[in-house]
Amino acid sequence: MLLEQQDDGLTFTEEHQAFRQSLRKFVDKEINPYVDKWEEERIFPAHELFKKMGDLGFLGVSFPEEYGGQGLDYWYNLVFLEEIARIQCGGLPMAIAVQTDMATPALCDFGSTELKKKFLAPTLNGEMVCSIAVTEPGAGSDVAAIQTRAESDGDHYVINGSKMYITNGTQADWICLLARTSPSTGFQGMSLIVVPTDTPGFSVSRKLEKMGNHSSDTAELAFDNVRVPKSYCIGEEGQGFILQMMQFQKERLAAAIMAYVGSENVIRMTIDYCRQRKTFGKPIIDNQWVHFHIVELITELEHLRQMCHHCARKVVAGEDMTREASMAKLKAGRLVRETADWCMQFHGGMGYMEEYPMARYFRDSRLLSIGGGADEIMLGIIAKYEGILPRRS
Ligand SMILES: Cc1cc2nc3c(=O)[nH]c(=O)nc-3n(C[C@H](O)[C@H](O)[C@H](O)COP(=O)(O)OP(=O)(O)OC[C@H]3O[C@@H](n4cnc5c(N)ncnc54)[C@H](O)[C@@H]3O)c2cc1C
Repeated sequence: MLLEQQDDGLTFTEEHQAFRQSLRKFVDKEINPYVDKWEEERIFPAHELFKKMGDLGFLGVSFPEEYGGQGLDYWYNLVFLEEIARIQCGGLPMAIAVQTDMATPALCDFGSTELKKKFLAPTLNGEMVCSIAVTEPGAGSDVAAIQTRAESDGDHYVINGSKMYITNGTQADWICLLARTSPSTGFQGMSLIVVPTDTPGFSVSRKLEKMGNHSSDTAELAFDNVRVPKSYCIGEEGQGFILQMMQFQKERLAAAIMAYVGSENVIRMTIDYCRQRKTFGKPIIDNQWVHFHIVELITELEHLRQMCHHCARKVVAGEDMTREASMAKLKAGRLVRETADWCMQFHGGMGYMEEYPMARYFRDSRLLSIGGGADEIMLGIIAKYEGILPRRS
């Protein structure tokens, strides 16, 4: 039995399952039929799609009702992520999750009421599109090395710098920006600031061409004397690094949840293919080499799913899940690579053809070990939690 049918009844109530069904219908009707077109066009209509999702209450299921969310427990959000992971590409689930799990949690948890009314509510309603901007041309894994500055000028910040590889970057109405607000170096003196993209001085330097995730737009952004009110700072000035590290936990868990569903779909597709395709007079699946490898992958997927559920339980209990979310993200990145490789292999030449979904999964899944903190960064975090990371000199 594949993972999807194994809901234990303890975690998911009938209401969760009803929510799953309505989202599944939406994905099948409003998203999957357009995926090929959007992949080809190298962009999807974020405003149009997010508005439809917002109108149905799909964005921000676990956010407070007063800001346009549904006020539901994190298990609903897990169901949400599981269902958007059924979209037939990697780019769209990623772009949607930026809106719901990557660029908005810090604003929700630490932003002022005014800021949440102005930016969070319209984002959860689907009227605004947002991005998270941490990475820079000269700093990715080493977040403490970012150079973008937000200097004080009366009641305003004046922002200068650039950000790299920003998802939704050409379509965003506002950006959750990590910038330096004091001359300190390292992880000190950074702040998270909401930057509306219609502010003079903001520009998209270029839309980046990628190996995969084609339907999602990715951009390099420039900030040239961009003035925003100091009240647009999320939480306390100078706390940005810590707030972003917290926000990363939701991002990494979301990525890991979507990974086990995406991989499960590819495994199911591979089983179907290997059942109907024959070599040497028998279905490919009847070779022990093949079905043993497939069940190895399913076993690993089940481990990942349980790990993600463990993280979800911690979120619901309000406990820190940094260690476990880092493990889940690490495991997810590696597992999707392994899944992509074996499933491609068992498809033979057909898997390599652009007309077949296997090739897209192979391309798209590779990002997971790099984006949102590379595997090596996850190893460092886990080592820190285990007390075996050498201190920086
Ligand atoms: C399609 C896509 C979408 C993205 N979307 C966003 C977004 O929306 N917002 C955003 O802020 N960023 C985004 N990113 C950026 C992403 O988070 C970074 O690419 C990632 O954090 C790695 O940073 P880097 O590319 O600068 O790699 P580098 O930091 O240069 O590292 C390169 C490699 O070196 C290795 N490495 C690095 N440090 C160590 C170490 N200490 N020990 C051992 N090995 C190490 C790792 O293997 C790593 O992959 C996106 C990237 C891509 C490709």
